[in-house]
Amino acid sequence: MAVIARRAGDPVPASQAVRERFQRMPTRDTLPELELRRELHRRGLRYRVDIGPLAGLRRRADVVFTRQRLAVFVDGCFWHRCPDHGTDPKNNADWWRAKLDGNVRRDRDTDAVLAAAGWLVVRVWEHTEPARAADIVQARLTRAGSL
Ligand SMILES: [Zn+2]
Repeated sequence: MAVIARRAGDPVPASQAVRERFQRMPTRDTLPELELRRELHRRGLRYRVDIGPLAGLRRRADVVFTRQRLAVFVDGCFWHRCPDHGTDPKNNADWWRAKLDGNVRRDRDTDAVLAAAGWLVVRVWEHTEPARAADIVQARLTRAGSL
């Protein structure tokens, strides 16, 4: 299981629950990503995985359709503040608020930079059922006239 590396300045997780949450939050190849990729592949769609779609943009998309210029992000409910499942940890509350707000700001900035470069961006929540997420991606590809 992937474990997020703690950086200098990160607070020590205050409880076993928080520590476990850290450990359940891999940065890539999460189960929802794997399930979405499997479903896309099953539908005959071919893509690249975990690459930076734009040279110079140091951010990776989870699934990338290079030719169609479509970048797909599977956003974790906790890390990206899902309206249904996002939570604000009570311990180290200020640090977490800044961290999570920063994630959301970076998401919007990534969207803007990609759009400005002519890319389509699709974001699905990790809670989205894989078949539904694949429908969203496929519809976007179709609408873009790429299939
Ligand atoms: Zn959610």
